[in-house]
Amino acid sequence: MAIQRLAEEVIDQIAAGEVVERPASVVKELLENALDAAAKSIQIEVTGGGDERIAVSDDGLGIPAAEIQLAFSRHATSKLRATGDLARLNTLGFRGEALATIAAVSQLTAITRHQDDRLGTRVFLEGGKWRRQQSEPSPRGSTFIVENLFFNTPARLKFLKHPNTEKRQLARVVERYAFLYSDVRFSYLQEGKVRFHTSGNGNRFDTLVNVLGLAHARQMMPLPAAELRGVAALRGSIQVNGFTSAPSLHRADRNQIAIFVNDRWIQDTRLMYAINRAYENILLAGRFPYAFIDIQMPKDQVDVNVHPTKSEVRFQQPETVFAAVFQAIQNAHLATETNPVSLAFTAQHAETKKRWFDEWVGPPDYRSTELREVAEEDLGEKRALPPRTLPPLRVVGQIGAQFIVAEGPAGIYLIDQHAAHHRLLFEQMKAESEQGELAPQELSQTHHQNLAEEAAERIHNLQEHLKPLGICVESFGPNRFAIRALPRQCLQPHCEVDQFLPALAAADPSEKDNLLNVLTAQAAYRDGQLLSMEQQQHLARALERCPNPLESPQGSPTLIHITRDQLAREFRR
Ligand code: ADP
Ligand code: MG
Repeated sequence: MAIQRLAEEVIDQIAAGEVVERPASVVKELLENALDAAAKSIQIEVTGGGDERIAVSDDGLGIPAAEIQLAFSRHATSKLRATGDLARLNTLGFRGEALATIAAVSQLTAITRHQDDRLGTRVFLEGGKWRRQQSEPSPRGSTFIVENLFFNTPARLKFLKHPNTEKRQLARVVERYAFLYSDVRFSYLQEGKVRFHTSGNGNRFDTLVNVLGLAHARQMMPLPAAELRGVAALRGSIQVNGFTSAPSLHRADRNQIAIFVNDRWIQDTRLMYAINRAYENILLAGRFPYAFIDIQMPKDQVDVNVHPTKSEVRFQQPETVFAAVFQAIQNAHLATETNPVSLAFTAQHAETKKRWFDEWVGPPDYRSTELREVAEEDLGEKRALPPRTLPPLRVVGQIGAQFIVAEGPAGIYLIDQHAAHHRLLFEQMKAESEQGELAPQELSQTHHQNLAEEAAERIHNLQEHLKPLGICVESFGPNRFAIRALPRQCLQPHCEVDQFLPALAAADPSEKDNLLNVLTAQAAYRDGQLLSMEQQQHLARALERCPNPLESPQGSPTLIHITRDQLAREFRR
């Protein structure tokens, strides 16, 4: 083929591929135009997956009759004159592409009246071709009706997902802008039915209630206006506002995480990562928060002209923005953890817990750092606690003298008392031995024990491994041993001193941590053991901050989580 210039029409269709990927992109562009036109009220109506019909009406400035043709030609915009304007932009649009490209791949009707015009204009374009234009009386503002999207680009049409998927995307776009522009009234209709609407009263929490529903919105925490530290504070001009979910609210995908920069909804994988990082020890793996994060920063520090959809931006100092977002969410967690209500609640239980903590680990003069901190936290003396790895659990009770039933914000947890306790003791003893704190605890009376010949020999050979574990044992005849001290974890009321040596004798000391594993398995609560409410609660509390709470050292699960959704499904709610 000889080289030829492409026809305008073909150029438009190619360009359309970049701006208009799917029906949701049409809604996004039309919404941005309406907002740029200072609309106070916007109605969005979609039919099918949006490929059939999308209509967006606003009460904004409208387009002057004399400019309407220009509005539909490419690179025609009222929002930008020179490239220098980009750094000062006050509008969402600036590329002058959207109307031309949407018109190129659909049948488009526009009815608009500029406030200075007496009559409005109605135009109809098909595949970018100008079909009709007429004057007619119409209210101030604009309506764009986009029908049969991609009717002339079948390849694109084929790539559309199931209408339900497209519908979700459409709704999401509207929800995001409704949140961001809470002072604008939005109504969103599907198949003629109102899906949601907002009042435009400027209150973002109200908007969250409208889009998420009250039950979910209630579990959203506002990002507090706390000071940012370190690198995020360097450029004091970054502000992070919005809402993020309490540990009780999460979902299996990232679809309810929205990031806004300078009043623009954007996609950014690094910031997405920052948000999820801030939940790392709070949500279980595979669960994601809800977050509506609004970042305001100097316009000259962010380039919005990176991609035709304007939904990617480039930050001059990405790490600063990352830190700002991460800290803002952390601050929200802290603010909620120390809020007066939860402190008042835990203070009531603090005394009981302190008592329990003393009882739990044997002699009262010896206190585990971790447990003391848990108790002290409850008295309001907040120390550096290990980070949470599970949401707060409310113990309901024990069943079958084997499992603990607990309620978490996101459903039910069934805890295997042996497996969980085994994990806790293992982590505790390991940490103590690493810090050289694993001290042997003298028995009030030396304990004598006979072992079978083979086991006795193995214990002889293990001597040097047992000392560092806090076990003091001496041979007292060929197969007889005297146990003088054990680590305090092995001296709990339910433990039998007799049980440890035979178990250790059977263990393979060459494998790392194997002896500790065997020892703590012996010291852990047993199946069939009745636990007091306090013991159960304490176990749950400790598990919440255990670095590895989901598996016992032997690899069996410590807990089973049944989500609310699963329960609702089972009960066909
Ligand atoms: P851009 O938004 O980048 O300027 P568009 O193709 O989206 O480009 O729109 C072209 C122009 O049409 C805009 O600059 C604006 O002047 C006008 N326009 C589009 N939609 C509206 C609307 N809803 N109300 C008023 N003017 C509009
Ligand atoms: Mg635009």
